[in-house]
Amino acid sequence: MAQHDCDICSGAGKIRLPVYGRVPAVYSDSGEITAKPAETSRTFACPQCGPKVEHERIALVYARATCAAEFVNEPGYDEHVKRDAAHRLADELLKGGFITYARSSVDELRRTFKITSKLGVVSPSAVATMETRIAERQGDVAAKVVDEAVRLIDTWGSYYGRETVTKSEAARFVREALRNVTSNRET
Ligand SMILES: [Zn+2]
Repeated sequence: MAQHDCDICSGAGKIRLPVYGRVPAVYSDSGEITAKPAETSRTFACPQCGPKVEHERIALVYARATCAAEFVNEPGYDEHVKRDAAHRLADELLKGGFITYARSSVDELRRTFKITSKLGVVSPSAVATMETRIAERQGDVAAKVVDEAVRLIDTWGSYYGRETVTKSEAARFVREALRNVTSNRET
């Protein structure tokens, strides 16, 4: 939340940063060149006090659907699948305990009580950042597995002066490399 004593945004909760874009020029038929007014600054949430969510705290909940190709041009089909996905996502959120409930006491005057359901969500931009980070992480792990497999193959049988590995040995090294990389990650 924005803080009044924030020395970055003075409590505005957002900051403007300059945009150093190339000035787009438009060439008309008469040979005239006119410069289009370019965006000179852009507003961002204050990095000091603006709302932010640690990526480690974001859970991604998916609902995936495999659709038969014959429905690819069916009018309204996508909407139907999306609605179905939304219901399944709601079920997953419920099962995962993401939704919290608070019950009020009985309002004796109105003879009612309230149950308030609450679900925290993050902005789609934060989710996009997280998906990028997951993809990068997967790339890191894959690279480590390759390095480890190469290391195992390089060192295999060198004591006996062996120069080649068999197919089954190569397959074993890849599996062993994955095991080594993932077990190191857990410790
Ligand atoms: Zn601030």
